Amino acid sequence: MKKNNILLIGTHNDGKFKEISKLISKKIKKISPKSLKIDSPKETGKTFKSNSELKANFFFKKSKLISISDDSGLEILALKKKPGIYSARWAKRSGSFKKAMIYILKKIKNKKNRKARFICSLSIKLNKKKMITSEGVIHGKISFKILGNKGFGYDPIFIPNNSKLTFGQISTSKKMRIDHRSIAFKKLKKKLILNKFFI
Ligand code: IMP
Repeated sequence: MKKNNILLIGTHNDGKFKEISKLISKKIKKISPKSLKIDSPKETGKTFKSNSELKANFFFKKSKLISISDDSGLEILALKKKPGIYSARWAKRSGSFKKAMIYILKKIKNKKNRKARFICSLSIKLNKKKMITSEGVIHGKISFKILGNKGFGYDPIFIPNNSKLTFGQISTSKKMRIDHRSIAFKKLKKKLILNKFFI
């Protein structure tokens, strides 16, 4: 990467900051918006992509640093792809992630189809003109109970395909090898290499 090897990771979510940091080369200094006293923009987009781009643009403008942001969430088929882009907001509205998970389990209690997927849109704003975005998806299903205490957010009710355990029961390092964020990151890295940027 150019420009002093500094990258702003545009999130106030500590879990996400750690996950994204771990995916990026140790040679790059990672800065949080918190440390620069920059708050978060309103997520007014209607898609994961528009929200991740809106955030990367916002943090780039405020910090003048190359900025990477994601927007992610859980889509549950039986709930018409909700909570989707409203994943964080559902938890806020419910009072906590635990309460939001209890609400979801109740809502789909009698549904046969428990298919779900996590989606992550990842955007990096390299300069005034250039934005690169990629998307990662991991398919799975919703468990019958809240299981495990690892990870964050809705991890304890999401069972990825080919697993018997929820993300809440899987070690963070294993989750990070397969999750939507790392899939989006791998794609982003390939696109960046084509633009001669290395992160
Ligand atoms: P946002 O991208 O900051 O709007 O928030 C996305 C929300 O989706 C998070 O706060 C979590 O609720 C949920 N989410 C996204 N990725 C994950 C994940 O890997 N595990 C658990 N929950 C996630």
